[in-house]
Amino acid sequence: MNAMPDLQSVLIIDDDPVVADILETIFDGEVRISSALSGREGIEAARAEAPDLILLDVRMRDMDGYETLKQLKQITETADVPVVFLTAKTQTEDEYMGLELGAFDYISKPIIPQIVKVRIHNHLLLKQQRDQLANMSMIDGLTGIANRRRFDDYLDQEFRRGARNHYPVSLLMLDIDDFKPFNDTYGHQSGDDCLQRIAAEIQTHSRRPSDLVARYGGEEFALILPDTPLDAAIMLAENIRAGIEALAITHEGARAVPFVTISIGVASTEDATIAIIDDLIEAADKRLYRAKESGRNRVCDTLE
Ligand code: GH3
Ligand code: MG
Ligand code: MG
Repeated sequence: MNAMPDLQSVLIIDDDPVVADILETIFDGEVRISSALSGREGIEAARAEAPDLILLDVRMRDMDGYETLKQLKQITETADVPVVFLTAKTQTEDEYMGLELGAFDYISKPIIPQIVKVRIHNHLLLKQQRDQLANMSMIDGLTGIANRRRFDDYLDQEFRRGARNHYPVSLLMLDIDDFKPFNDTYGHQSGDDCLQRIAAEIQTHSRRPSDLVARYGGEEFALILPDTPLDAAIMLAENIRAGIEALAITHEGARAVPFVTISIGVASTEDATIAIIDDLIEAADKRLYRAKESGRNRVCDTLE
């Protein structure tokens, strides 16, 4: 979605600083290069920087490359970063051992700049494609917001985090009012345009980086609000409801007002009866249903 993506980054872990210099020269600003002079330093850097590729020397003073790779594979943040060994050790057995440990490739020293450049370039291309696929698998194609899969993963993660850190997680379930007649009257294409505008409007109300707006189903959206108490979630829901009404998308067949509106159910883990994720979703869903029953274009946060 970003027209000018950030440069990809390569971390070089080698006790010989000359290697990083050579790579700087080879890539001449096309790739972000950082370096660490020992295995330990390299692991810390990999954790902090999340590089796209690690070039790892085998023979180093304190911890060798094999041990460094083993440790990188055990750390969640670094386990999936592709690693290429860069080494003067060229015995077949060494190469096999490195590949067995999970290295993607083996480049032998002394470095031949043209060849190293092409190989690294290929690995970076693969990494970029992998990232794009991972990203696409979490995004709804029509609206560009998170899809249902991402919603499920994120709610699971934040529900646990909230329980662990004793903070409330609130959930909004939002459903467009009388959307079937909207499609019937204005056509499916207008329906899709409307979904995009509504998604964008909801997105503008999600201000914290930890908030997540998702397309939950056809014309149903969800907003996950970590570390947010019920009263704040209700205020936010009311702002979203008003914001969508204010878009003034004409809908002559709507029952509430002659515009597209939305009904919202709000629930929070502050509610002591909510013990598991399904309870939270069900509570928000029931309240959404209540909002529909009691006239649409409204927020409901209770079952009374
Ligand atoms: P209510 O106020 O009770 O929610 O009424 P409704 O008409 O919105 O509810 P219902 O669930 O019966 O209809 C949902 C409609 O949303 C069905 C379908 O026409 C429309 N819809 C669902 N997904 C899409 C989509 O991706 N694009 C378009 N254009 N329409 C969709
Ligand atoms: Mg609807
Ligand atoms: Mg619906």
